[in-house]
Amino acid sequence: MHELSMVMNLANTAERTAEQNDMKKVELIHVGVGEMSGAVDEYIDKYFNQIKDKYSYINNATLVLSKDFAKGKCKNCGEEFLLTENEGVCPKCGERDFTITIGKSITVHKIEGE
Ligand SMILES: [Zn+2]
Repeated sequence: MHELSMVMNLANTAERTAEQNDMKKVELIHVGVGEMSGAVDEYIDKYFNQIKDKYSYINNATLVLSKDFAKGKCKNCGEEFLLTENEGVCPKCGERDFTITIGKSITVHKIEGE
């Protein structure tokens, strides 16, 4: 059920973006699925299809999912780095103290339509 709240946020963001950009219909929503979000692609699709009818811009849209690799920002030197690749250690100063900036949720990268 974890995915449902993330998908609802995602749908709201996409809907708002379409409205702000004077789009009529959204066809594709490019979504980054955070490496550490715990979200499963299959469920994201499933929930999106269940709720999209309630929206007026994105009700016919299809999701295009890709993976967002998790990034952290070093609390010591401010360097931003890929967490998995660096095993959670800042490549610049060697600290292990960081805040996760990308990868904990699912985010709208881009919407396409007319
Ligand atoms: Zn650092």
